[in-house]
Amino acid sequence: MAASTRSMPLRTILLILLLIILLPALLYSVYELTTLSTNEELVGDIYRRQLDVALFSLNQYSWDVASGWASSLTLVLRENGSKEQILNAARRTRVLQGIVLADTGLRSIQWMPVRVGRADGQLRSGLLENREKIARLPMLRRVDDYRKLESILLPDSTILLVFATGDDSRPHALVGMLLGDSSFVHEILEPRIREAAGTDFVLAVTRTGATAPLFVAGTWGGEEIRQQKQLWLFPDLSLGIRLAGQSLDEVVRSRFRRNLLLILLVDLVLVAAALFVYRAFRRESELTRMKSDFVATVSHELRTPLSLIRMYAETLEMGRLKDPGKQKEYLATIVRETERLSHLINNILNFARIDAGRKVYHFGQVQVNEVVTSVVGTYEAHLREQGFQPVVELRTELSPIHADAEAVKEGIVNLLDNAVKYSGERKYLRIATGSEGGRVFVDVEDHGVGIAPHHREKIFEMFYRVSEGDVHSTKGSGLGLALVRHIMDAHHGTVTVTSTPRTGSTFRLSFPLPGNA
Ligand code: ADP
Repeated sequence: MAASTRSMPLRTILLILLLIILLPALLYSVYELTTLSTNEELVGDIYRRQLDVALFSLNQYSWDVASGWASSLTLVLRENGSKEQILNAARRTRVLQGIVLADTGLRSIQWMPVRVGRADGQLRSGLLENREKIARLPMLRRVDDYRKLESILLPDSTILLVFATGDDSRPHALVGMLLGDSSFVHEILEPRIREAAGTDFVLAVTRTGATAPLFVAGTWGGEEIRQQKQLWLFPDLSLGIRLAGQSLDEVVRSRFRRNLLLILLVDLVLVAAALFVYRAFRRESELTRMKSDFVATVSHELRTPLSLIRMYAETLEMGRLKDPGKQKEYLATIVRETERLSHLINNILNFARIDAGRKVYHFGQVQVNEVVTSVVGTYEAHLREQGFQPVVELRTELSPIHADAEAVKEGIVNLLDNAVKYSGERKYLRIATGSEGGRVFVDVEDHGVGIAPHHREKIFEMFYRVSEGDVHSTKGSGLGLALVRHIMDAHHGTVTVTSTPRTGSTFRLSFPLPGNA
């Protein structure tokens, strides 16, 4: 009953401990998981920013180059240069495929191919379809003095870059520069893209709808491009970016996996620590319980013989008891109870001494048979009175041991006392000595209640008493066997038990011989 009400709070304590430890770890794990998405966003941001920087520089550069061409063409046109001079200016660019001249109203459109001839049909329709955008160019030039380059994507993927010269009244008020965007990328932009990519990034120029890029700066393994944006002058082309080698999010992911593993490891250690604390706590509370049980049993143990002694002594004192037989019986009870009391008090005192480290042993050469004979001699009458016919089997020619005879006696007395206490109806007691494997032993055997396997180790602990069956009603302090073990430890010996429940037990004190210690 007491055990069950006690184990509940213990379990609660374990639960709280685990919660205190696991909850923060769990929260941290969840936090790490959520930061993964934040990290992904961060990674996206880094790509976007880097891409913006690269894109801005490339766009600016493209614009500068095209603008330079526009300036030199404007110059030639202003000076009323011949068609050949205009084409020469275009040839110098290595990229321009031809020049288109037109008036502001797009009524006359003149096509001047640089290298190969091509039909001007697509150019015309391209210009006319973008009439509104183009119409703004002379105005921008006039009002804001801004030479805007309008790019018109033609069906064969060539680009017509149109600008206003500022001479609105002339037939070449508008100039179109025809070029292939891929040759612009290869001839003009390539070194710039490489520079922008550096060693950390891969930059790829891709045509809309195409899977393979037009140009790649860096090592391209067919990986996914993380961010992509259009180039200003070339609406059909876009610039994409990713990290060279392992991508940033891969780095983040592997870091996350490593962190999670670490957390798991830390959690495991913490749980192990919690279990350890819990076990220590349980042990401690068990000890406290056993101590309080001890106090209760010892008080009871002291009170019962005392009240018996007092009762019998008072009866005798009053002289009411005339029957000498009865008188003797009363006196015998008084003596027996006094012996029990002194045995108990002896045990407690000895134990207190051992516990405080104040127990002093007086070692010397000891003949085990002599000690056994002496103990049996002292207690035989008492044993017979209890209904036992002790069987004593002493092995002759035993080597002497190095021991404290009084302490050994005390050990044996405790074993005898237990054999008597836990024997029930079958009153059998055998005390034997012998030697085995360089050791000398004393066996105390009974045919009593026996000890269940799960108690066999614990009965040697302080205050431990078997709390089941008939045994719990037997008086005791739980100190006897702990004392025996202490004594045996001091002798570098052992106390062991072989026992079968309801059949009996044999306790063995085993001493090393001086040469084998
Ligand atoms: P106590 O006898 O005062 O309870 P001990 O330390 O001597 O304390 O013994 C511890 C427990 O071991 C006893 O409570 C009892 O349950 C068990 N025990 C000891 N000796 C025997 C025995 N000979 N037979 C059965 N049980 C025993």
